[in-house]
Amino acid sequence: MAGTAPERIVIENCAVATVDAHDTEYAAGHVVVAGNVIESVGAGAAPEGLANVVRRVDGTGHLATPGLVNTHHHFYQWITRGLAQDSNLFNWLVALYPTWARIDEEMVYAAAQGSLAMMARGGVTTAMDHHYVFPRGTGDLLGAEIRAARETGVRFTAARGSMDRGASDGGLPPDFAVETLDGILEATEAAIDTHHDASFGSMLHIAVAPCSPFSVSTELMREGAKLARRKGVRLHTHGSETVEEEKFCHELFGMGPTDYFESTGWLGDDVWMAHCVHMNDSDIAAFARTGTGVAHCPSSNARLAAGIARVPDMLAAGVPVGLGVDGTASNESGELHTELRNALLINRLGGHRENALNARQALRLGTFGGAQVLGRTAEIGSLEAGKLADLVLWKLDGIGHASIADPVAALVLGAAAPITLSLVNGRAVVEDGRLTTVDEDAVARSTRAEAQRLARIAADAS
Ligand SMILES: [Zn+2]
Repeated sequence: MAGTAPERIVIENCAVATVDAHDTEYAAGHVVVAGNVIESVGAGAAPEGLANVVRRVDGTGHLATPGLVNTHHHFYQWITRGLAQDSNLFNWLVALYPTWARIDEEMVYAAAQGSLAMMARGGVTTAMDHHYVFPRGTGDLLGAEIRAARETGVRFTAARGSMDRGASDGGLPPDFAVETLDGILEATEAAIDTHHDASFGSMLHIAVAPCSPFSVSTELMREGAKLARRKGVRLHTHGSETVEEEKFCHELFGMGPTDYFESTGWLGDDVWMAHCVHMNDSDIAAFARTGTGVAHCPSSNARLAAGIARVPDMLAAGVPVGLGVDGTASNESGELHTELRNALLINRLGGHRENALNARQALRLGTFGGAQVLGRTAEIGSLEAGKLADLVLWKLDGIGHASIADPVAALVLGAAAPITLSLVNGRAVVEDGRLTTVDEDAVARSTRAEAQRLARIAADAS
């Protein structure tokens, strides 16, 4: 019955990098989408005689890849970019906390729109956000982000973050920027009950995400882990980002960050952690043994002079590694496709030199690796029949890329590639480089207005 058959989109004549288990690639191939799933991927033309084809795309001069998966971000920082430009992490945080503590729902909504628009127009099909600043009486901040993600049309993991260790308890944030333990646990459980959708093809997951060892009590780490496991959701936090954090953990807990995470229930295959820059061999072995994932954020780590994460060693040990933009107060570009290149380049400055990462490994970090750390490899991360139709068609026949024969090298090593089409769940979110779902110019105006409003409020309060 034609009326009930799924609508099909046929993409042909493009190079295809599937990022499947064998890194299968086709120099000239096809992808057929049926409804919200991939029906077939292969060499040459699409199968003939397909019913209900609503669109045919000639992919000549293009590369099709899985959609990019971002595994670490702080959307609200979109309206505090370009500040504390020459600080390390702790000084940068101390400079920004007082401003961040003045955000409200309108600001977070605009910032989320800006963050999501920037990522989506650069090929991100699954976004995540780690939001941990909840000033009292400022509205439904998590709900504002979820609304923005729904409007942008990307798949989304909203990590309900938190801070309860203020300066008077030996923490880094000022006391007025933190919540109470009970309030956090109650709000986090309510967010899971209200929003988390665990079904196949879900557009929205919730994760439990206390901010970091230096802003969260040990009790919140323990209780947060218990809550996440009782509810069957994932756990996320920052870990081993800087030498200052390592020193802080030794002074306060008498052990390094990884041992501290282990002691509080924070290693496991349902956990992923941002950064993991300062890890010794036994830390990496502990992550590998437990299946704990890593969100590698090369630009942010460079911006804050944090160091170079040992990604080649993590991959060799079997640690799941994805890529993250991180908040845009420490990575003003806010794009993930450029992080493929930055991950490769920055890791080659480390001990493994030219053997650190190759272009295909970088693409894998940004796609399948992201799906791994978000616990979604059955659904996304590679172009395979039966998986969700999240894919990007990169235009590689323009001046920036046409003279590079290897399309994956052109994508990863070359300039940021334009996007002809990006599908999320079978729906076009980008067409010819522009978002179809939101008005980019309107978002630019509202983010500027909200950034200026926040700056005024922060200046008046100081
Ligand atoms: Zn972060």
